[in-house]
Amino acid sequence: MTTAIRYYSTNRSVPEVPLDTALLQGQAGDKGLYMPDRFPAITAGDLSAWSDLSYAEIAHRVLARYTAGVFDEAHLKELCDDAYDYDVPLEKVDARRFLMRLDRGPTASFKDFAARMMARWMGALLEKVDGELVILTATSGDTGSAVAHAYKGVAGIRVVVLFPIEEVSARQRMQMTTIGGNVTTIGIDGQFDDCQAMVKRAFSDPELSAIRLTSANSINIGRLLPQSVYYVYAYAKLASGGEPIVFSVPSGNFGDMMGAVIARKMGVPVSRIIVATNANDEVPEFLRTGDYHKIAPSKVCISNAMNVGHPSNLARLVDAYGGRMDEAGALTEAPDLARMREELYAVSISDDKTRATIKDVYERFGVLMEPHGAVGWAGLERYIADYPDAQKELSVSIETAHPAKFPDEILATVGVDPELPPSLAGLESREEQYDTMRHDYAAFRDWVKANYS
Ligand SMILES: *Cc1c(COP(=O)(O)O)cnc(C)c1O
Repeated sequence: MTTAIRYYSTNRSVPEVPLDTALLQGQAGDKGLYMPDRFPAITAGDLSAWSDLSYAEIAHRVLARYTAGVFDEAHLKELCDDAYDYDVPLEKVDARRFLMRLDRGPTASFKDFAARMMARWMGALLEKVDGELVILTATSGDTGSAVAHAYKGVAGIRVVVLFPIEEVSARQRMQMTTIGGNVTTIGIDGQFDDCQAMVKRAFSDPELSAIRLTSANSINIGRLLPQSVYYVYAYAKLASGGEPIVFSVPSGNFGDMMGAVIARKMGVPVSRIIVATNANDEVPEFLRTGDYHKIAPSKVCISNAMNVGHPSNLARLVDAYGGRMDEAGALTEAPDLARMREELYAVSISDDKTRATIKDVYERFGVLMEPHGAVGWAGLERYIADYPDAQKELSVSIETAHPAKFPDEILATVGVDPELPPSLAGLESREEQYDTMRHDYAAFRDWVKANYS
């Protein structure tokens, strides 16, 4: 057995730490993001041997490579079995194109995959230490409910969720505001980026240093590692003999896409990762020009969970290609842009195109997508239009949420009211509880102090 993986900060001015420290800290002390010091190999032999395994079994095999030294294998196996007790459908759309539905978890978005694993990891670590941990989370719609649900009732943990009050759907809101217990939700009269900025500021605020704060946003490496698993799973289930695969990932904060980058680095034969954004096109523009400009305020689009004008995982993407970017988006070392352009295909999809795609895919294939998944699918179609040979390649587009989370949009576009999955049933009859606050950092700091000191 080789030595356990250690985690370095993308800003490189604090020492490397083991996984448990990185998990409990969230953001590194120099405001960088933790990255593993290597990507342990998944071989062609592993991938073919895993073709008949369940999702939980594949998760166990992939994640064991990162958790060695912190969780023993049998314990990790239990946590994976417990976290991944739902379906991961790979739906065939046409000859070589598939849709991977990551919407069958308890809150009906892909955020469940990471939130459930990370909550179990943190819960297990906290059993060994005293005191309370406060998780601050900003949500653009789905993180809040996934995190709140995953941490509900976990001893020693309290959860605070900030959401942009005007930008989440009613169902998304009710999914977080009806939990209660150790979960507090606050509606902010601002945008997701404002919520994210408030949370990030709190982490490095000396006035709050007496409170143990951590993050459950995708700045936490505990979110990222589990998000590499479903790419490995899709490959093991669909591909064989080392054939290349294309993944299309609808992206906002780029945590989901970083999961694909990690899977590729571990050895999954990925020919391209399609990075599909809505009108918040700062990353496609960065890849095109080499210059990065955040978008502030971010644009409001129907794929609301991707209304991000300054994605927090961009520093990790830049790091993965040999560059360096700080938390403010300043590029201090250029990444290998030529290689990024070869391995990634970045595209921005308008709301009109998103709606047209939902309609077209439903009419041609009888497959129902919601706005985020449709952005991914439209990205795949744009890629195939640019590279016609790709029509023959095996490709998987990621559906990140259940259509029933966006009933108004789906009804207006294709005239059907999507059937509610069991996880969303009965929501309307539960009592909502949430505070509201202006997007004013000082007010938020005082609130945190008053409630958690
Ligand atoms: C969070 C979210 C995304 C964006 O994922 P990132 O990891 O932030 O890029 C896409 N779709 C849905 C439904 C989401 O909830």
